[in-house]
Order: sequence, then C-alpha cells, then structure tokens
Amino acid sequence: MTTYVPSYYHAFQCIAEKCRHNCCIGWEIDIDVQTYDFYQNISGKFGRKLRDNISDSEGVPHFVLTPEDRCPFLNERNLCDIILNLGEKGLCSICRDHPRFRNFFDSRTEEGLGLCCEEAVRLILTQSGKFTLIQQDMDMLDPFCPAEEEVFFRFRQKMIDIVQERSKPFSVRLSRLLRESGTNFPHKSPRQWAEIFLSLERLESEWKERLEALKTFAYFSFADITDQRLMIALEQLTVYFLFRHLADGRYDGRWQERIAFSVLSVFIIYYLYLSQIKQGETFQFSEFAEITRMYSVEIEYSDENTEILFDHLQQ
Ligand code: SF4
Repeated sequence: MTTYVPSYYHAFQCIAEKCRHNCCIGWEIDIDVQTYDFYQNISGKFGRKLRDNISDSEGVPHFVLTPEDRCPFLNERNLCDIILNLGEKGLCSICRDHPRFRNFFDSRTEEGLGLCCEEAVRLILTQSGKFTLIQQDMDMLDPFCPAEEEVFFRFRQKMIDIVQERSKPFSVRLSRLLRESGTNFPHKSPRQWAEIFLSLERLESEWKERLEALKTFAYFSFADITDQRLMIALEQLTVYFLFRHLADGRYDGRWQERIAFSVLSVFIIYYLYLSQIKQGETFQFSEFAEITRMYSVEIEYSDENTEILFDHLQQ
C-alpha cells in the first residue's frame, strides 16, 4: 500500500529529555499484543521489572503509572529506560508511533504528525513552504483509486489550495474556504464559544483559566493580521486540521462540520494567544505553540469533545 506523508514528516525527531510536556507523563500507555509477548521473553532483572509494571486489570495490558502519573520507565533524566535497555525495537507500538496519526484509504495510507507533541507543533507551524504530500515509497505504483476517493482528494486539495493562496489576506482565504465548501459558520460570540468549551471534558486545570480569557473579546476576526510569521502559522494550522480531520468525513458525512471545526479551532487558538500577549507585541511563537499544543491535547485528541463541537457546528 502506498503511503503519503507531509513533506516535513521525516524531519521530526523526538526531543526526549528537552521536552517540557513529555508524552510519557499523564497518559495511560496500552501495550499491543506483539510487544506484550515480546516482554514476556525478556530475561534478567530488566525483564522482571517490565513484567512487574504491566497490569491488565482493565482488559488491555498497560504500564502502571507512578503516583506522579509518569510512565514507570521514564527515568529521572526523562529518558526512556526501555530504549536504553532494549533499543527502539523494545517500544510498544503506541510509543513507537507517537505523535504520528494515520488515515486509511482503499488506495493509500496517509500519515501525519499530531499537534499534541511540542516538537511536532514547532516543526509544522514554522514550515515556510506550502503544505504538500509526498509519496514515501516512490518505487510503488499507485494502486487503483476508487472514484469516490479521487473526488475526496480533489475536494480536499481545492480546500487546502484556497487556504494557501498567499496573495490574499488570511481572512479572505477563510471566508472563501467556508463559501466554496458551502459551510455555515454559526454566529456566536467568543463568550458563547468559551462557555461551550468550558462545558467540555478538561485535562489540565490551566486550560480553564485560558478559556475564561476568551470572554473578554467582543467578536472573532482575522482582518488585521500583518505579521508574516503569524500568518504562516495560522495557514499551517488550518491546513493541518483539514488534512487530519476531513478524511473521516467519508464515514460520518460531516464534511462541513469538519471544515467549520478547522476554522473554529484556528479562531480559538488565535484568540487564546491574543489574550496572553500585550497589544502591538511582535509574534511570540513559543506562546502560540504552547496554546496550540494544549488545544490539541484538550480538544483534538478527545473524540468525545470533537463530536460535541461538531454538534454545535451542525449544518
Ligand atoms: S511529546 Fe513529542 S517531543 Fe515530547 S517526548 Fe513525546 S514524542 Fe518526544
């Protein structure tokens, strides 16, 4: 099967101990069957430690987190003891894959990097070139592409091209994206959106404080953005949401909701960012990136939260 990835995909490298929001903290890590079996055959002290720290109390084997919510194999230097002892081949598939995601089609698989990882955020939002997909295995011939997939790929590319039309202001591009896809964006104030987001399930307590700050804005607009770096970050962000979330419209038919969700996500991230900086301040990339990461963890990675938002964006 042919695999397509964004052109930046292979530049990703986990920053390990330098990561402030390590993915081995705060998430339960399930272990796939193959790796579980592999762990059963590791001999010696480390093999025993591995097995002692796995539980299948909820039906799926997983590592038992420490009282501090850390993976038991994340050492005090924030390095992975499994890699140190067994090499990368010792990782379970979730750890090996993170922060990658996949969308499966009949004619191809698409892989991307998720914004829940701060290094992926940095990589994606600082790409100055336009988003392009590249074929990983160039020697493979494209298999037959069913007509409905052809239609989907053409439609998605058209939407992405609209967002990447750099001769136009960003606000014009988003209006065109909504218009050409026949998407209605509901008239709600930032305060109303803040209330909706506050009613969703939350992970980090800081997220609540950040959402409260949204209530100070009267309306959403991208009309006066002039900073080029900010404009690029917003463009890459919108394209990321379209690339990642539009594909599942094939299963639920919620195309317009998914486009509205992409636009809403960019508005929320941008206004959360504005609430943190002083007026007239130059673009603070690290602040923008941290809000993006947090949004991804709180909203995008929760099927429950995205479904509720799709309902609010129903066409
Ligand atoms: S969040 Fe990303 S950079 Fe941080 S430890 Fe995980 S994969 Fe590495």
